[in-house]
Amino acid sequence: MEPCLRQRLTAFFSGGLRRQAYWHLALTILIAAVIILLAASWTLSNIRERDLALQQNQLLEHYSAVLPRREIAWSTAAKQAQSRLEYLRFLEEPDAIAQPKLTAYLNAQWTLSEFSNLLILDGGNQVIFHHGSESDSLKSLFGEQATWIYVPQFHQLYRVFQFPIWLGPRGEGRLILFKSLSNSTLREIVIPQAHLQLSYHGQLVAQSHDTPPPSGENTLRIELPWSDGQAASELAAGPMLEIYREVVDQLPYSSFILRTGSAIALLTLLIWLSVGRWLARTAYRIETLGKGARLYAEGETREALVAELEPARQNADEIGETAAAFEQMMETIQSRAQEQQYYLETLSLLEEAVVELSVAGIILRASPGWNKIVHRKDAIGVSIFEDIHAEDVEMLQTQLNTLFAGEKQQISLRFRLRPQWVVKHETWVECQLLPNTHKNGKVTGIRGVLRDITQTYLNERQITHMALHDALTELPNRILLEDRIKNALSIAERNRHLVGVCFIDLDNFKVINDTLGHKAGDRLLVTFAERLRASLRSGDTLARWGGDEFVLLLPDMQSMHAIRNVTEKIVQSLQPPLILDGNEIRVTFSMGAVVYPSDGVDIEVLFSQADRAMFFAKSQGRNQVCYFQDMERSEPGRRELYIQSHLTLAVNQGKIETWFQPIVDARSGKCHAAEVLARWHDGEYGWVSPSTFIPMAESLGLIGELGLHIMKSSLDAAQVWHARGEKVALAVNISKRQLFTPSFTQHLLREFDERGLEHSMLVLEVTESVALSDVQNGAERVTELRKAGFGIAIDDFGTGYSSLSQLHEMRADELKIDISFVRRLDEPSGRSMVQAIINLAQLFGLKTVAEGVEDAATAQKLRDLGVDYLQGYWFGKPMPQAEFLAWLETRSR
Ligand code: C2E
Ligand code: CA
Ligand code: CA
Repeated sequence: MEPCLRQRLTAFFSGGLRRQAYWHLALTILIAAVIILLAASWTLSNIRERDLALQQNQLLEHYSAVLPRREIAWSTAAKQAQSRLEYLRFLEEPDAIAQPKLTAYLNAQWTLSEFSNLLILDGGNQVIFHHGSESDSLKSLFGEQATWIYVPQFHQLYRVFQFPIWLGPRGEGRLILFKSLSNSTLREIVIPQAHLQLSYHGQLVAQSHDTPPPSGENTLRIELPWSDGQAASELAAGPMLEIYREVVDQLPYSSFILRTGSAIALLTLLIWLSVGRWLARTAYRIETLGKGARLYAEGETREALVAELEPARQNADEIGETAAAFEQMMETIQSRAQEQQYYLETLSLLEEAVVELSVAGIILRASPGWNKIVHRKDAIGVSIFEDIHAEDVEMLQTQLNTLFAGEKQQISLRFRLRPQWVVKHETWVECQLLPNTHKNGKVTGIRGVLRDITQTYLNERQITHMALHDALTELPNRILLEDRIKNALSIAERNRHLVGVCFIDLDNFKVINDTLGHKAGDRLLVTFAERLRASLRSGDTLARWGGDEFVLLLPDMQSMHAIRNVTEKIVQSLQPPLILDGNEIRVTFSMGAVVYPSDGVDIEVLFSQADRAMFFAKSQGRNQVCYFQDMERSEPGRRELYIQSHLTLAVNQGKIETWFQPIVDARSGKCHAAEVLARWHDGEYGWVSPSTFIPMAESLGLIGELGLHIMKSSLDAAQVWHARGEKVALAVNISKRQLFTPSFTQHLLREFDERGLEHSMLVLEVTESVALSDVQNGAERVTELRKAGFGIAIDDFGTGYSSLSQLHEMRADELKIDISFVRRLDEPSGRSMVQAIINLAQLFGLKTVAEGVEDAATAQKLRDLGVDYLQGYWFGKPMPQAEFLAWLETRSR
């Protein structure tokens, strides 16, 4: 009950500033009024008491003086009476004379006398004379020493005076005088407003008024013993004068209350008018401050606020200053808010979202970007976890905990959003979060930037996929393959298992590609890959190595037998023809297979052995599987291996020679250029054809080195000729792999720079399929070389199955008509074919070179057909440099 009451009281008193001020003021006035009243009453009663005491003292003083004076007067009168009686000497006479004389005298004088009764006693205390109406009674009552005597039957008190008196012959007697203390006695000494009573031994004997004495609060009552001048001890025997006096109240209580009340009321009015009004105004001004703050909190404009604060600002006091400061603060806050608004608007332009989270993950603030990301109208107050994919919530929580624990000062992470009906796909968000760390080190919140990275994520995934997979067949590419082989090898090493690595090359793919077109060729590769993959285990990897080459990785194999089973299965899988665009196509492949660890323990060795095995499989007529270990056992295999191993040596020792075959101008017969042809003579096997060792060098990775060696030596030779004034150009064969050796162009330019030769004196012979983007970017490489100023000749033109209409796409300077067409010149179809090639070449501004001219008739026919240059045994076979120089000299003569 009590707290309830207290609460109510508190509520009442704290109702409003003005009410509080009024209540405090009223309470103060009330307390002041009570205090004033009390103090005034206390003072009043004090004054009254003092007044009473004063009056009492005055009365006391007065009557203390009056009574002795009376006593003296009476005493003097008594003395005079005695003297008079003695002087008259009546008592010296005999009683008979004396008594009538005395009586007569006294009757004549007595009325004037103070004393109503008189006794005269002789020496033996015998009354000899008495006078006065009561004297008879008195003489019996009178005691010898009495000063006072009360006669009950008369209700009369007497003051008794005794004097010795000379009785003449009877000696000395005593004169007793009785002074009666009657009402009249008191009336004589009474003062105005006083009332006297005389009592004797508790018996009222006289009073000044007929009425009873006043009583009540305002009556002073003083008892004063009637002193007779005797010793104090005998005072008690005397009468007591009671003095009553009504004190006139100067200030009655009612009028006191009235006056004080009025004074308080006046004071209250004054206080109310001055302090109260001031308080009210001050409270009102403070209230406007409060109202202003409330208005601001409700989001009112600054203008409304300034209007509201107007009363508070009226006086230049603290409240006014506060109002001004408040306005200023508001202005600052508003401009901050404006800035923040701009900032947020700017932020809303961004795709990124800026958010602030509570420790519990509730969004406290968020830029519009976040609403966009999570597809909400307003995400404020919502837990961020509500929008996060159920599988990522734990991860995010764990990461946030590292921030709370102070383990990290910043985290960057990616997570998915909870799937929403608005978006069908997964939404990925990337965020960077920082803790809001309080001075005491406690994390009070989190802020950060979030970004929808779905597109980037998908792109990245795509890029990663692309980086590791072949775009056409979706098979792993070289990079992924190498990674998987490394893994497979390390696992196999531990488990003592075998790993099979098989190089697969489609047979005659070039032909298929050129016949059916690139797109069909691509589809064939896809179909082929699918067929192969279908017969593999899930752990096996089929990768695309490039072009029509594939690599099969068989990890974790138990035995050689198991590996052979797989390769056999693959061969079998290709027995049924492939279906391409509804057509049946029969494809075969050549495979070179190696086995870890028997054929090699590291990737490089395994790859080169597999390549060799595959090369051998091809050279053996294609459509077969060749195991490296089998190859070592068979005779042709051993020869192949021998050549392979000796080729490496020959290339490294620079034993490959550079020979030159002249190309002559068809009209003038002058030597126009020399085709550079590689020659290799091995001690055991004799001459090895470039058609054999060039592809071998390619597969062994020697072509870069070999090509450079040939280029260098041919350029050296050309330098010599040029020095001799023989302006013969060089036609150098460039194989596919050579062209794609990254540093090829760079090396070429350097060699030319070193020798100061003109770029135009070199013609690079590339085969038709290479020039026509057989491999991606092939055309680009050719274009790049041509831009550098080198001539480009399309070699073996006509064998590449490209349509003649594609000729304009080839960025070339010359066409080399293949030897097979030259052979068929005698046939009408062959002749018209060559004619067509020449016509087209002329149409596209290309020079033509005919190869394999072995006799004069053929040379003439070609001349007639309009061929620009001729090459063949008829003019000169390929020859070493010295011989070629000699040939040149005989020609010029
Ligand atoms: P190719 O570029 O078509 O070279 C012309 C081939 O025809 C040469 O064979 C040449 O000796 C031969 N030949 C020239 N005139 C006649 C003739 O009148 N009658 C006959 N029957 N043959 C003639 P070779 O030297 O055996 O070269 C074969 C292939 O090897 C070349 O064909 C070329 O593709 C390649 N090759 C030769 N040397 C190199 C080289 O240094 N680098 C590259 N990448 N390939 C080369
Ligand atoms: Ca050639
Ligand atoms: Ca050729």
